[in-house]
Amino acid sequence: MLNLWRPFTQHAIAADAPVVTHAEGAYLYQADGKKIFDAISSWWVTIHGHSEPHIASAIRAQTEKLSQIIMANFTHEAAQEFVHKLSHAVDPKFAHVFLSDSGSTAMEVAIKMAVGAHFHNGEAQRTKIIAFDHAYHGDTIGTSSVGARGVFTKPNEKLLYDVLRVPSPADDAAACLKNLEVMLGALHDEIAAVVIEPLVQGSGGMKFYSADVLDQITLMTQRHGAYMIFDEVMTGFGRTGTMFAYQQCKILPDIIALAKGLTGGFLPMAATLATDEIFDAFYYEDRAKTFFHSTSYTGNALACAAAVANLELWESGTPQKNVDALAALQQKFLDEIATHPAVKNPRRCGTITAFEMEDASGNYLSDISPRLQKFSLERGILLRPLGNTLYVLPPYCTTEDDLENCYVVMREFMDQVTARAA
Ligand SMILES: *Cc1c(COP(=O)(O)O)cnc(C)c1O
Repeated sequence: MLNLWRPFTQHAIAADAPVVTHAEGAYLYQADGKKIFDAISSWWVTIHGHSEPHIASAIRAQTEKLSQIIMANFTHEAAQEFVHKLSHAVDPKFAHVFLSDSGSTAMEVAIKMAVGAHFHNGEAQRTKIIAFDHAYHGDTIGTSSVGARGVFTKPNEKLLYDVLRVPSPADDAAACLKNLEVMLGALHDEIAAVVIEPLVQGSGGMKFYSADVLDQITLMTQRHGAYMIFDEVMTGFGRTGTMFAYQQCKILPDIIALAKGLTGGFLPMAATLATDEIFDAFYYEDRAKTFFHSTSYTGNALACAAAVANLELWESGTPQKNVDALAALQQKFLDEIATHPAVKNPRRCGTITAFEMEDASGNYLSDISPRLQKFSLERGILLRPLGNTLYVLPPYCTTEDDLENCYVVMREFMDQVTARAA
């Protein structure tokens, strides 16, 4: 009997996964009739809500015309329209967009672009990448090399390439800047790129830091001739309060990776945005200087149609209004729960709230996460703490009642845990 091997799942101890038959708005509906509030936007991809009708109908219409063709030889209307719309949504500095399938591939592409651009520009010695403590950029060998190391990367450690590591700006901004300056100064002509999640380090524990510090990081990086890569895979499409996190910065990066919310959470597609300088480094009559990267489904027409419909929604202004309203509600409930004795370091960035639970060990394998997952699911809420960091990252259609109920359940859980500890 063939079994489904689920992601990030220890099957020896995991309960059977409930079957979800349909999803709408902020809710998942199980086969047994139970309704689940999706407080984590199904791993951060569902931005507007499930089954958003405008995107659903755009995909349906596209299936009547064209689903997939080889992008190395052809283009299609959905891709052209996507590029056209995206060019209105992002800064004109980003004049080139490369399509792939996931956040990991968008980041692999970003890193290959940066290293390759230096290579073709006569700086083949620029191969080193600088990344930060707690970073997460994907689970492929290449992106997990750049991400923080730990229990997740242990079995593959020998396969990972070396990356220079500096303290996280969220832990200690001064130490981060100082270490980065020293490193860039000492190895100035060997650094290809600095890679960062702008404003929020997501998987590393919803760690927030300011746009001002990010500006200083970018400035320093570019002053030393290295490329700055923003991994906006999670922050893109409203999460941090603006459509993109970089819009809160004064200094723009050289490369931006987008994925998760790009199709509104409907289909896998990712985009890596690059400046003229990056593109031009590969622009020669010499075929050897081609950017050699592709995935079979590059520019999938259904995904492009979904992304176009998503961008149309953003053009309408409604998502931004919903983001603003959700951010205000999140602040209200965060302020309320912040008074709970088990809550440590309550914080919010845009539509995301997070805090640590005080009497947990702080280790990712601590059992707070599975216990809260079970507790909340029994009460109709999907939560998935990162170690002892609880966070709420819901779709933008979330109502005040949905959210209030979510915080009530988190409070009940903390009451129960603290009562038992006392
Ligand atoms: C989720 C995530 C990725 C990886 O995206 P996938 O689509 O899962 O490959 C990369 N970077 C960040 C910041 C992410 O949150």
